[in-house]
Amino acid sequence: MSEMDKKNPDVDENEDEYEKVCYICRRPESRCGKLISLPGNMDVCADCMQRSFDSINNVNMDDLIKNTNIPGISFLNLGDLNREIPQSQKIKKKKKEDKEKLPELTLKDIPAPHKIKERLDEYVIGQEHAKKVISVGVYNHYKRILGEKDEVEIEKSNMLMIGPTGSGKTYLVKTLAKLLNVPLAIADATSLTEAGYIGDDIESVVSKLLAEADNDVDRAEQGIIFIDEIDKLARKKNATTRDVNGESVQQGLLKLLEGSVVEVPVGSSSKNAMVPMVPVNTQNILFICGGAFPDLEDVIKSRLSRTTSMGFLADLKDKFDNEDLLEQVTSEDLREFGLIPEFIGRLPIVFTLSKMTKEMLVAVLKEPRNAILKQYKKLLAMDEVELIFEDSALEAIAEKALEKKTGARALRAILEEFMLDIMYEIPKDSDIGRVTITREYIEKKGGPQIEMRGC
Ligand code: ADP
Repeated sequence: MSEMDKKNPDVDENEDEYEKVCYICRRPESRCGKLISLPGNMDVCADCMQRSFDSINNVNMDDLIKNTNIPGISFLNLGDLNREIPQSQKIKKKKKEDKEKLPELTLKDIPAPHKIKERLDEYVIGQEHAKKVISVGVYNHYKRILGEKDEVEIEKSNMLMIGPTGSGKTYLVKTLAKLLNVPLAIADATSLTEAGYIGDDIESVVSKLLAEADNDVDRAEQGIIFIDEIDKLARKKNATTRDVNGESVQQGLLKLLEGSVVEVPVGSSSKNAMVPMVPVNTQNILFICGGAFPDLEDVIKSRLSRTTSMGFLADLKDKFDNEDLLEQVTSEDLREFGLIPEFIGRLPIVFTLSKMTKEMLVAVLKEPRNAILKQYKKLLAMDEVELIFEDSALEAIAEKALEKKTGARALRAILEEFMLDIMYEIPKDSDIGRVTITREYIEKKGGPQIEMRGC
């Protein structure tokens, strides 16, 4: 092979790296489908070929002949075009990312419940009971799907997680999926609708999971689907309008929770004729539903009061106000709240997360592995500046977050507001060696303490 041939991408040796492009629309073969080769080193895609035929058909032949005065003229002289055709009609293919196929999950990959909890402890503050329940639940779930099958069939352990906004529901599931190295899809129950209505149809949660698993069906079938805001699907009491949607989404979710084979589009959340479909079995997918269930406490309280008022304990009614009532939830309460019995039945593990207290919020700021404070300290350390937060400053941030009533969610935004000026000003002066954030600064009654190097 000559030197010239080696450099010419049209030569077969480079067939893998180069691809042909359509002479008319310039799209590569990978996008427009197999090209038709024409004389003169020209390749044309089927679309452009069709369009050319269509336009020829639309020409009024009489006019054409009148204008050219030459009967039977050839309309396209390929020889004329030849001069403009570059020698190479191929472009370099985009390199596909080399994604390593993950090895199949085995029971050995799943740590024992106490190990799972230990890992969760590194990230999630408090919520001891929730972490324990989820660790055991997940361990049993993977035992069920990865262990040997015999006549004793272990039931599916889908979960329902009840806890206020910003108490770490999503964070718990995300951390769990990361440490188990399984794909996780997070969906919002409020965006789900019955097939045929505007919104994502119920099965879209499965195609999300498939996308998270890089379209690997086997991996997706061992993944986790977290459906947030599940309480919004509750049947409304005393609703003036007919509210059937939430309830019918609960109905629609039943077969997914239980385990069934659904056809889902690959690489897209919507079904249409152009998207290939693939069957996914949800039998081994772990479903975790979560929600704040805002009025559930009232439901529990009225049940407990009813029970006590029957006996001589009626005077204890007020006692409930001081208790973490959510922990006493029963399936009867959930039914009263508006979940349908079949739906509750498919979520056998129910547990609660507690409201974030001031102490917990302070701990969220400084203790997790990737705590926000640690991140800021690291950023400033790169400028060789030490960042210190006084304990009272952290408490002030936690107090501000409590006022917002969005749990730990508010922390980052509050901190960012105060750190912006610091991150902007400090690098200006290379003599600054230490910055201390004080309560006064957080309460906007003063500035941070700045110390120079060598002082
Ligand atoms: P929700 O309960 O509403 O799902 P999230 O899990 O989304 O709340 O919490 C929002 C953010 O707050 C998380 O990304 C995490 O950084 C932080 N967070 C919430 N709860 C905790 C917690 N218990 N421990 C550590 N961080 C938490």
